[in-house]
Amino acid sequence: MKEPLITLEDVDTLSIKTVREYYLKHVNKGIPKFLSMLCLEGIEVEYSEGMYIYTKCGRKIYDFTGGFSVLNLGHNHPRIMRARRRFNEKKQLEIWKTFLSPYLAALSRNVAAVSPGDLNYVFLCNSGAEANEGALKIAEKYQGTGKSKIIYTDLSFHGKTHATMSVSSCEPSRKYFKLLDNCVSVPYGDWQAFEQVIKKSLSENSVENDFIAIILEAVHAEGVVRPPAGYLQNVRRLCDEYNILMIVDEVLCGFGRTGKMFSFEHEDIIPDIVTVAKSLGGGKASVGAYIAREGIYNRAYGRLQDSMIHSSTFSGLGEECYTAIEAINVLVEEGLVKNSMDMGEYFLAKLNDLKDRHEGIVEDVRGVGLLLCIELRRPADRLVTLFEHLSTSIRDFSDGFLTGIIVSLMVHKYNILVTPGPHEKRVIMIIPPLIVNRREIDYFIASIDELFSMNTASMVKAYSSLKVRNMLS
Ligand code: PLP
Repeated sequence: MKEPLITLEDVDTLSIKTVREYYLKHVNKGIPKFLSMLCLEGIEVEYSEGMYIYTKCGRKIYDFTGGFSVLNLGHNHPRIMRARRRFNEKKQLEIWKTFLSPYLAALSRNVAAVSPGDLNYVFLCNSGAEANEGALKIAEKYQGTGKSKIIYTDLSFHGKTHATMSVSSCEPSRKYFKLLDNCVSVPYGDWQAFEQVIKKSLSENSVENDFIAIILEAVHAEGVVRPPAGYLQNVRRLCDEYNILMIVDEVLCGFGRTGKMFSFEHEDIIPDIVTVAKSLGGGKASVGAYIAREGIYNRAYGRLQDSMIHSSTFSGLGEECYTAIEAINVLVEEGLVKNSMDMGEYFLAKLNDLKDRHEGIVEDVRGVGLLLCIELRRPADRLVTLFEHLSTSIRDFSDGFLTGIIVSLMVHKYNILVTPGPHEKRVIMIIPPLIVNRREIDYFIASIDELFSMNTASMVKAYSSLKVRNMLS
């Protein structure tokens, strides 16, 4: 052993300096650097509950990131905590590969129960990317070997595994990897372009088009882009007409985020395969899933010899399923889908007023349910040049530097946590837990209103002194 092991007792008292050092030595040098640009690397978290993160120095931070939609029920929901305790007190069996699991069966049944139509078959996994991988595989198996191509859109993120990256146009790191060569991109929101691609394929192949499936989000989560009305219905119609499966990625939007159980329900359609993850585990368990229509699942994997074609070791762990069963019950019993719709409308109206008051800084605001964002205007060129002289880390920020400054000031001046869009640099994402109330939204709006009332130079000054203070501490 190179060094003595750290014990659980040690972990509980690790200083933030040591944590940072371990990141640099053993995790990834870029992560502390990125967090340092946002002035977040020095924050020491004590615990989290509901809408709030409590720090060791006594601050109470409003979490408007909602763990990027993992925390739809809020942090450490008491019923989720109780469910996990109960499972462990009973010393329940965790791995059920050799017996029939009541937990896996009940969770699959509950996921089917909240899914419309004949979306009845559920494969459980551990992440969004895995759910999408599984969906692409079942689609291919269903179609047989005659067809070879997958269609995706030019506004998409479906994960960072090889296959999911191949259908994720928003993922900038794609350029470093050899992608699947059977993927074809079409413009998001443009069903006529989709139809043209099908017709072109038909003219080349004469009998059948070459497309297995189209994968898309019903609302492009990052940047909150809603396709024109009728888009999903037309895609559905074309899929039916030309025997192409429709896969809808609900990894971020599923389970109430957009004010409906699933975001595709904003239009009256039923996809062939739906993928979910994030909040399915109630903010505690890493559970993802794909949900397939009955006929599709059975044709692909219904025979005994095909039943294990797609599986994984951690699929359907006992405690993960038990937690997710409770998560769906809490979501339904607490009426959180409706709260998402009501609070989302309230929030968006307030954001629109904010935009009117601060046209110089806000380019646009968008929202569907409690998936909201503020898009900032591109900063004046003169200011960008000024920043480039100030600091290399800010230069790295390039287009997103103002976003970074706003995120930093929101947390340090107002105790409000928001996040920049992972790929959309001028977008501030607002994704609170679905338990958020009017008072918390009002506080958010009053705070960002005050911040936007500062001119950009004052924001830069405030940010610079924050950076200096952080460097000295
Ligand atoms: N699909 C969407 C819409 C997402 O937002 C994400 C992650 O943010 C994924 C897929 C990938 O999920 P995971 O990070 O769990 O692999």
